[in-house]
Amino acid sequence: MLSIFGHEVRAGDMVVLEPPIGKLLGHDTITMPTLVICGKRKGPTLLVTAAIHGDEINGVEIVRRLLYASWARRVRGCLIAIPIVNVFGVMQRSRYLPDRRDLNRCFPGSASGSLGARMAHFLTEDVLKKVDMAIDLHTGAIGRTNLPQIRVSPDNPTAMEMALAFGAPVVLTSELKEGTFRNAGDALGIPVITYEAGEALRYDQPSIIAGVNGVRNVLEQVGMIRTRVRKKKIQPAVAPSSSWVRSPTDGFFRTVTQLGARIRKGDILGYVSGPLKMDETAIVAPFSGIIVGQNQIPQVYEGEALYHVARFERVTEAEAAVDKFQATMTDMIDIRD
Ligand SMILES: [Zn+2]
Repeated sequence: MLSIFGHEVRAGDMVVLEPPIGKLLGHDTITMPTLVICGKRKGPTLLVTAAIHGDEINGVEIVRRLLYASWARRVRGCLIAIPIVNVFGVMQRSRYLPDRRDLNRCFPGSASGSLGARMAHFLTEDVLKKVDMAIDLHTGAIGRTNLPQIRVSPDNPTAMEMALAFGAPVVLTSELKEGTFRNAGDALGIPVITYEAGEALRYDQPSIIAGVNGVRNVLEQVGMIRTRVRKKKIQPAVAPSSSWVRSPTDGFFRTVTQLGARIRKGDILGYVSGPLKMDETAIVAPFSGIIVGQNQIPQVYEGEALYHVARFERVTEAEAAVDKFQATMTDMIDIRD
């Protein structure tokens, strides 16, 4: 039995709840559709959230696919999945709330604050405090794409176990940022991992498939489901740090490498050129690593972030993890999904 949004969800039930989350200016109520699956057997409660940034929609599709996953219905304990947290942003195809605040900087929020603070407060009090662990689904920003990766605090061993179990090729350890959902979880002692994959306003099949598989893998790791052992499970590589390679000048950017590539210090990654100039400026890798994020927009200004490069202690292991992931995805992608 799980008590949430004024409902009692009984063991063995799968329900969709629609708690009010705010109002439009015409006073129409906005709700936040939430899938709750409670198994017949006892176990932990795991939360999956998507679209806290309203333009990051891969997670919306990841949660939709949980509806059809037979393993999701066999959970021990309860699975709560919220495909659209920032309902306002999703409607506007925007990362932000209507008052231009970033919901993922408003946590833990307050009952009497701004719209973002109130939404964050509702999520903290009525959702986060009811769960044992959470997975928050994100993508890169507009014009930036991310290799599927998990962001996790290096100081939280339970979150690190979830991060490794998820099975994205790269786990990036990153310090907690003030105001984020992940930070709010940490303050409550609830492990939260962030999945970052693909680009804003795009569905990306490998990111979606890896996201669904990742949720399943974490459910398995925390004992909520049992599935057959798969040969193709990815052993993620953990990156203790990462940095951006920035544009050396203004102009038009084109890349000669790609997301997921292993790069070595001194490699030419791409070029920035003028529209009618014969000369062009090479973008040279200042250090070695794996490209885990990449700018997609040709028009760039000097200093603009172009390549997000993760650094590893053993980069060959990371390269192997990415290669295996990409090979697995090639096998699994079916356009009819
Ligand atoms: Zn995001």
